[in-house]
Amino acid sequence: MSSPIGHGLFGLAIGVATDRNVSQRLGWWLFLAFAACAPDLDFVPGMLVGDVNRYHQMAGHSFAAALIFGALAALGYRGWKGRWSVLVGAAGASAYASHLLMDFFTHDRREPFGQMLFWPLSHDYFIAPFSIFDGIHHGRPGDTLTAFLLELFSGANLAAVGMELIATVPLLLAAYWWRRLQTGKKSPVVAGSTD
Ligand SMILES: [Zn+2]
Repeated sequence: MSSPIGHGLFGLAIGVATDRNVSQRLGWWLFLAFAACAPDLDFVPGMLVGDVNRYHQMAGHSFAAALIFGALAALGYRGWKGRWSVLVGAAGASAYASHLLMDFFTHDRREPFGQMLFWPLSHDYFIAPFSIFDGIHHGRPGDTLTAFLLELFSGANLAAVGMELIATVPLLLAAYWWRRLQTGKKSPVVAGSTD
């Protein structure tokens, strides 16, 4: 797994690239940063049974889960605003899937290696044949919450987070630049519109 810092910055980049017509810009950024970290909420049921890694990178790390997340986000938006938003659902599912993409290229330190990407159709695990990111240390099977946290916040994870920053900060800057470009293109239309 990569860290919440790397995943969150990736989600933030998606948020910045897609916030052009969004009034609650900060809320939009935070929503997509959260969506990009959401698959790792699969640690929670493991915490409840005293084996933090028990359900990690299983159903929660699948494309089906990304679609479910997007559908729930769109449903939540409808409940809040009273109308559907394709953008909310699609961006939420994309940010969630960005997590799967990063983890796919992340070194996995324990078997079974990879993620159940095609759950529920397949229970096989998938991972890239090479790694871009050094995996975060997050304990071994059977570890308690204390052991998990001690390893998570150990110095061994600093280099891995550094590599994630090298990859995701340029992505964030590119998203910002792209949005500026799009906003610039749109400006004359807005100025001349009668809305
Ligand atoms: Zn993950």
